Amino acid sequence: MRRLVRSRKMNGVALDWPIEDRYVRFLYAILEAAQRRHPWISASPFWPSGARFAFVLTHDIETAAGQTRVCELADIEEEIGFRSSFNFVPEGYRIDASLQAELRKRGFEIGVHGLKHDGRLFSSRIKFEERAVLINRYLKAWGAVGFRAPFTHRNPEWMQALDIEYDSSFFDTDPFEPIPGGTISIWPFFCGRFVELPYTLPQDHTLYEMYGPGAVDIWTRKVDFIAKWGGMALVNVHPDYTCAEDNIGLYRRFLMAVKEKADYWHALPREAARWWRNRAEERSNSRTD
Ligand SMILES: [Zn+2]
Repeated sequence: MRRLVRSRKMNGVALDWPIEDRYVRFLYAILEAAQRRHPWISASPFWPSGARFAFVLTHDIETAAGQTRVCELADIEEEIGFRSSFNFVPEGYRIDASLQAELRKRGFEIGVHGLKHDGRLFSSRIKFEERAVLINRYLKAWGAVGFRAPFTHRNPEWMQALDIEYDSSFFDTDPFEPIPGGTISIWPFFCGRFVELPYTLPQDHTLYEMYGPGAVDIWTRKVDFIAKWGGMALVNVHPDYTCAEDNIGLYRRFLMAVKEKADYWHALPREAARWWRNRAEERSNSRTD
C-alpha cells in the first residue's frame, strides 16, 4: 500500500528524484554566459583544498532501540576513516549520556533531533516557541550547534528561534516526506541566522524499501552527479533502519564506494556549515577591497 501511495505521490510532485538538475544547470548556464562577456570571472571554489565535492554523514536516532545500535554505525565509519553526526531526540527516550561522551571523544558530532518526535513540533507557533526554549537548552547542554526536525517538518521563519549554526531539515528533492518537494539546491545556503545543510542523498529507509540491495547504486549515482557539479553529498541514515537486517552491509558498501573516489572533502556537518559561512564572509570582504 505504501509503495502504491508513494508512486502516486511521485506523479504529483513536479521535481525529479533522486536527481533534480534544473537549478544546478541554470546556475552554471548563468556563470557561462557571464564568462563569455567577462572572461576574468571565475566561481570561487566551493570546497577546501580543491576538493570536487563535500561528503557529510548524519544520523537521526529515532528510538531507544536505535540508540543501542549507534556504535555499530560509528565503528564502521571509523574503520573506513569517516566521522558523522548523531542527532538525539532530547525527550523521546532516555538519553545515554555516556554514549554521547564516547562519540564526542571519538570525533563524532552530537546534534538535536526535535524535542519529542511526536509530529507536533510545528502544530502552532506558540507551541513551537515553547519547545524552542527547551530545544535551545538541550543544544547548550550538549554543546550542539546542529538541528534536524522530526519528519523534516519545517518552517524557516519560526526556526529562527533556534540557537543553531546549522539546520538540516530541508533537502534538494524528496517526494516521500510529509512536506514533499525540495529546495533544488545541492549546496548549503543561508536561511536567516543559520546555514541550511540540505540533505542531498535519499533517506535510507526510502531506498531500502524501494530498491533493496540496489540502494547502493542509487546513492553512488547521486554522489557522481553531485561531484560533477561541485555540490555537497549529505546523507541521513538511521541506526533504527540501517542496523536492521542486512542493511548495514549496504551502508558499508556505499561508504567504501565513496572512499575510492578520493576527490572529496569529508567534514562533520558543523565543519561544513562553518566553512560555508567563512567562505561567504571572505567573499564579501574581498568585494569591498
Ligand atoms: Zn526522526
